[in-house]
Amino acid sequence: MNIHEYQGKELLAKFGAAIPAGYAALSVEEAVAGAKQLPGPLYVVKAQIHAGGRGKGKFKELGADAKGGVRLAKSLAEVEEHAREMLGNTLVTIQTGEHGKQVNRLYVTDGVDIAKEYYLSMLVDRKSGRIAIIVSTEGGIDIEEVAHSTPEKITTITIDPATGFQPHHGRAVAFALKLKGDLNKQAQILTRQIFDAFVAKDAAMLEINPLVESKDGKLLVLDTKMSFDSNALYRHPDVVELRDETEEDPAEIEASKYDLAYIKLDGDIGCMVNGAGLAMATMDIIKLNGMFPANFLDVGGGANKEKVTAAFKIILSDPAVKGILVNIFGGIMKCDIIAEGIVAAAKEVNLSVPLVVRLEGTNVDLGKQILEGSGLPIVSASDLGDAAKKIVAEVKKLQA
Ligand code: ADP
Ligand code: MG
Repeated sequence: MNIHEYQGKELLAKFGAAIPAGYAALSVEEAVAGAKQLPGPLYVVKAQIHAGGRGKGKFKELGADAKGGVRLAKSLAEVEEHAREMLGNTLVTIQTGEHGKQVNRLYVTDGVDIAKEYYLSMLVDRKSGRIAIIVSTEGGIDIEEVAHSTPEKITTITIDPATGFQPHHGRAVAFALKLKGDLNKQAQILTRQIFDAFVAKDAAMLEINPLVESKDGKLLVLDTKMSFDSNALYRHPDVVELRDETEEDPAEIEASKYDLAYIKLDGDIGCMVNGAGLAMATMDIIKLNGMFPANFLDVGGGANKEKVTAAFKIILSDPAVKGILVNIFGGIMKCDIIAEGIVAAAKEVNLSVPLVVRLEGTNVDLGKQILEGSGLPIVSASDLGDAAKKIVAEVKKLQA
């Protein structure tokens, strides 16, 4: 789960991190009211969307010369003007895809007189089984670009979760950023505060780009991008509160209500599978047969009729879907129960695209009988390869 920049900053501030003052706003009036509470005379109006690259982004509705999603304002009137131009419009950045994202929230914050921009991020590094801190003296720009062209400018420091944060980790970060004197001390303190926030909230990723040194010698968090481990959300109701559903794919939100793992993809074949490994294999074999999966969907071990119906509806809500492949292994869940679920769901949603079902496991013969006796045009398949061939053939038959 991702949160907005301003939410990440408010969270880090609770751990003592230095952030410029700012106020979130849902309307032009709120943006101006927020700015009035800031000292001025320099304000920054920032679009709050779950994507980076806002500064260099472009608004779809505005001309090519219009400013991006991070704008300086030198007066309250300019704050108002920027807020009016941004709210409700669609911002396209390198991270949003070409469709862009509608800007429904703004953050009005103190303008900082920047001396230098740095990069700092933390993430759970599965390879080392540790929390990795990634820092670079090259901040404010695309880190992938830095990693590509000047990898020597990126330093990774890992922390063993068993021993936790030690003072030498803070010193290593400050050293990698080439900071001296008081700024060096500030970096050590800030790194610990950010690490504490990261661990306490079960974050998966936290990126501060840029971390800045201001002309008056302060180290400040100027941008945050933060995401959380969804498996740990149950113990952080305060984090769940920060969820902004308008930023998420409606089908993915619907799927999460039924505890279905669903991710939309770009192909034509909708997939309904149990188990992530089997889902991956199913997607691979569809590709091997010349077509592409429209989604990843893992209905999980305890798939019942309700879940299967919800899964069908979610798959069919994608207009790109031209056929569905169901590939379910009945272990805990018996094949006849799954078959009943599929038939009931197919009837309920008025299935309009070819459906190939491959069942395997306990009571498989009974399951197949139920599918055949349903009167629905369901194509039964005997194994994974057969299933993929059949769904591709069915879809191609319709397209011919
Ligand atoms: P994004 O990464 O989405 O483009 P940022 O918050 O990183 O958005 O802003 C882009 C750039 O705008 C920063 O690298 C910085 O140079 C400038 N900027 C952002 N916030 C402020 C601020 N409060 N004061 C001064 N400059 C800022
Ligand atoms: Mg940034």
